[in-house]
Amino acid sequence: LAKVHSKGQAVGDQQLLDRRAATIGPYSPLFYDRPLHLVSGEGAWVVDAEGSRYLDAYNNVPQVGHANPRVAEAVCAQMKTLNVHTRYLSAPIVDYAELLLRTFDAPLDRVYFTNSGSESNELALRIARHMTGCSGMIVTDHSYHGNTISLAALTTGLTVSEPLGDHVRTIHVPDLDGEGQAGRPGDMLQAALAAVDTAIASLQEAGHGVAALLIEPAFSTEGLPRVPEGYLEGLAERVRAAGGLVIADEVQTGLGRLGDEWWGHQATGIKPDVVTLGKPLGNGYPLGGVVTTEHVLESFSSTNMYFNTFAGTPAAAAAGHAVLNEIIDRGLVARAGELGRHVAARLGELVERHPRAAAAKGRGLFFGLALVDSAGGPDGDLAKRIVEALVGAGILISRIGPNENILKIRPPLVIEGDELDRVIDVLDAALLAEAGQPAARV
Ligand code: PMP
Repeated sequence: LAKVHSKGQAVGDQQLLDRRAATIGPYSPLFYDRPLHLVSGEGAWVVDAEGSRYLDAYNNVPQVGHANPRVAEAVCAQMKTLNVHTRYLSAPIVDYAELLLRTFDAPLDRVYFTNSGSESNELALRIARHMTGCSGMIVTDHSYHGNTISLAALTTGLTVSEPLGDHVRTIHVPDLDGEGQAGRPGDMLQAALAAVDTAIASLQEAGHGVAALLIEPAFSTEGLPRVPEGYLEGLAERVRAAGGLVIADEVQTGLGRLGDEWWGHQATGIKPDVVTLGKPLGNGYPLGGVVTTEHVLESFSSTNMYFNTFAGTPAAAAAGHAVLNEIIDRGLVARAGELGRHVAARLGELVERHPRAAAAKGRGLFFGLALVDSAGGPDGDLAKRIVEALVGAGILISRIGPNENILKIRPPLVIEGDELDRVIDVLDAALLAEAGQPAARV
């Protein structure tokens, strides 16, 4: 593996680390053993303070590439003209809302703007409570939906001191690639759906009722499990029968990330009542949203004013609009599907050749590789070593899942095919090196 950077921290970086520790402290731990001090970016590449270039196969916020000139210029031009909140008549927000809503299927035809995924999910919870008169929530047992107090009360996939709410029930997402699970999809589906029935009954018995099911359509925090056919549909059907709403959190999976379709749920059999958006919408300019139906929006608005100072300003709308135009003009949604199929085939080859690579996960430009130990159990330590080997070779990835043994590969949609091949080649070499076999220099 060609080394991109030395092991030790540069003197200037060490000083910055010390100043960071003395001000920001440990609340947001830095990535990688040797933290990266990034100073610029372009397309799928980022550059550190020493001038080393890294291929970014991890960041899903710069959906249309780091420092995208079209987005930067659109925001800049709007900031130089006017930037006000949403209680004035303003064309940019309406133009953007119209284009954004064209990417959704009927009856999803209304949008609230927010500044983040957390704000979007927080609003979705309020909407679900309003629409159902209930408070009960069903989430998965390894999920993350945001940083507010009500979202912390249903967070299961990240350390928070807030206890799980009385009104929250968790379900386990089945994975056909999970340990010892092969060959029994029917049983697995039945057991998983029975767990939802139990969660619903428990919420009803406790008097909470069912306000909503809140899930990511591809279960990314859970490690991109391969769920049995009919699972999502079964979940949605049961929750709706109990009077609850289906909320699809598309903060990670949305805006073409999974390829072929604009939104993750569009490739499934579920039609959510509410879809929450965030991360990639503004390519780094804070922008999120809650997409729902006319009926829901009118009903919620009849008793709730929703005002959010920075959400949907003309500058935010300019960012969002430029991102959509880039995706449309460059055909990035279909391209993510094509590139994803190529990567899936290549990851499948790695699974065939490397005993420690157990399963290729995901689709579009959001994929993973599950790593296991010699006994077939999840191997988070191996995943950590591979992530570090890749960053040492100039490629940024991360890991996910309850055991953190699934490599998480999720580049900006503008990444080129040969760049993706490089990611897989270097990964291949790192797996060979782990097995004590020298690889051809990549
Ligand atoms: N939902 C999901 C699925 C997320 O991954 C995140 C952020 N990691 C959020 C919601 C919260 O988004 P934000 O950080 O913009 O508040």
